[in-house]
Amino acid sequence: MKDVLRDLELIVRLQGLDLRAAELRKEIAALPKEVALIEKALDAHQRKLNGDRAVLASNQKERRQLDGDVQVHQQKISKLRDQMSGAKTNEQFRAFQNEINFVEQQIKKCEDRSIELMLESEALDQNAKLSEAALKQQREKVEHRKAEARERTLADQKQLAELLAERKLICTEISAAALGTYERVARKSPNAVSEASNGRCTVCRLEIRPQLYQDVKKCERIIQCENCRRILHYNPPVAFDQAGSGPPALGGSGTRVDMT
Ligand SMILES: [Zn+2]
Repeated sequence: MKDVLRDLELIVRLQGLDLRAAELRKEIAALPKEVALIEKALDAHQRKLNGDRAVLASNQKERRQLDGDVQVHQQKISKLRDQMSGAKTNEQFRAFQNEINFVEQQIKKCEDRSIELMLESEALDQNAKLSEAALKQQREKVEHRKAEARERTLADQKQLAELLAERKLICTEISAAALGTYERVARKSPNAVSEASNGRCTVCRLEIRPQLYQDVKKCERIIQCENCRRILHYNPPVAFDQAGSGPPALGGSGTRVDMT
């Protein structure tokens, strides 16, 4: 009974280590994906900034073009004025004047549009600056999260190595048969151990045959649930007047091992 009880105790510890190791492996695998996800959010910020800058650039380009147009128009007017001074008739004079008026209207149109663009550009410039600040902030956030993930991964890996070392030690203490049974069951279900309580397997909830339940209580061999194949163990109920004098319970000193 003592050897089997010891094996069961070691199996419970082994299961605790294996469950924790699985959690750590899962976390180690999830961290790079999480980082990739927030880096993707960075792309969206970069695209927004690129878009804002492109709109601002096209605004500036149009303004430069208008400035150029105004210059061309002014040169044209000055040429027309020169020609007008040599006008022979009133008709010629009026024709030049009409032409000059027309070009002046063109200049006015250019200048109006230029003012419109200038007013728009203030908001566009502000947008680009906000996008730039948002990108910078997001980039800092990503860097911070990346550093956190790196730190977390290192800590997880360290803890995992410690767990595996402890596991190795337990494996040398446990009987080969008990270890074999545990590993067979654990391959199918991570919770390989189940408490037998009130005549039932507490994991699959199925009733245990009375004879088998007695055998589990006797603890003379490793017994598996006939339904879910989990390794059954029995923790005797602990009463105040029994504490310390009853049969040893798993987990030692009268405390019940929580298998949930
Ligand atoms: Zn079961």
